[in-house]
Formats: sequence, C-alpha cells, structure tokens
Amino acid sequence: MSAAAPMKLYALMRGRFGFLNWWPADTKFEILAGAVLTQQTSWKNVEGALANLKREHALSLESIAHINITKLEQLIRPSGFYRQKAARLKGICSYILGNYGTLERFLSQNVTALRKELLLLNGVGEETADSIVLYAGGKPVFVIDAYTRRAMHRVAGTSENISYGELQGFFGSRVRRNVRLYKDMHAQFVELGKRYCKAKPVCEGCPLNSVCMYFRSKKQGENY
Ligand code: SF4
Repeated sequence: MSAAAPMKLYALMRGRFGFLNWWPADTKFEILAGAVLTQQTSWKNVEGALANLKREHALSLESIAHINITKLEQLIRPSGFYRQKAARLKGICSYILGNYGTLERFLSQNVTALRKELLLLNGVGEETADSIVLYAGGKPVFVIDAYTRRAMHRVAGTSENISYGELQGFFGSRVRRNVRLYKDMHAQFVELGKRYCKAKPVCEGCPLNSVCMYFRSKKQGENY
C-alpha cells in the first residue's frame, strides 16, 4: 500500500496534468447547481443546462426557488433526468432560501453541520454534499467519486465495494486537511479517470502505472 500512498499518487498525477483549478464556475451557486445536475451524467451535458440557466438569468438561489417548474425542466433538460433534477434543485433552493435567506449564510455553518444538513435534503447524496461543502463552502472534506473508487481499486487494491465513508476515511487519514489540496486531488482523479483509468483502462502512458497493482499484474500475465 505504501507505493500507493495518496500523496505519492497525487504527485504523479499533478506532475502529468498540472494544477487543475477545479471546480469550473463563476459563483458558489453555480457550483451547487452543477453538483446536483451532474448526477448520473457527464459534465458536458451539465454545461448545456448551466448555459441555458445563465441565458435566462435563472442561475441564482432566488430565481430557481421561484421559477415555474416546467420552465426549469426545459432549461435543464440537457443534463438528463430533468424532471427529477428540476424538482430536487427547486426543493434545495426553496429550503435554503426559506431557512437561511442566502446561500452564504447556509454555507457559513461548520463542516459537520453543513454536511449533515445537506444530506437531509432530497436528492443530495454523499458525493453531492461533499462537492458542495468543498467547492462552494470552501471547507476541507474529501470528495469520493466513481473515478477515484475505480482507480484506487486498481492501483491500491482497495475493495470494489468499499463504502463511501471508508474510502473517504482512507484519504482523510493520509492527506493533510487542506481545501486547495483536496480540491486538486479530486480533480486529478477525475482527469485520470477520463483519460486513462476508464472502464477499459489505457495503462500505457498512465502517470500511475509505475505504482499500479493492476498494471503490474497484467504485465506479469496474472489475473487481477
Ligand atoms: S495503470 Fe491502468 S489500471 Fe492503473 S491507474 Fe493507470 S489506467 Fe488505471
């Protein structure tokens, strides 16, 4: 496991991809909306939905809380599951507006309280909650996604069925709590997953192949 220590993996990925400066957004609200819209779809589709909301001047807490639901569904249609996502996004915005008045006030809670409250909202799972806490709230919580889970299974042999909390704890206990580092480390795993550690991995040229258990076993002709 030592060869796959998270900071070593990060150094290798960062050396290849450079600092990635995630999350791409102009405002904290855009991050929140993007985190909900990106569920079960690619970021490219989310960009279409966000562009529609911007064009209609609807990308704000107040606008989404008050917008007609059918109109919202049409605007976010490119992100897929648009009926479900429209209801979720509207519900989240109405809740925050009704209980806190502003997104800033909602996000100003401490990390534990903010995460707990987000998880009580309909349609907010752990990855969505942590993305909002880290990127919109600027608070140190490590985001686990499918790319990170897949890469860690192959590189370090963590269980394919490892729970979200367990894998988050693995990183949390080995990586110093730092918002900038947490953001970039998550972004590096996303980049790795898109370019190399895909469903069918492209190991030649992958920045992690020198420390990857899967790559080593394939080279030795073993089943992984
Ligand atoms: S070497 Fe292959 S399996 Fe290992 S992280 Fe890279 S792409 Fe994934």
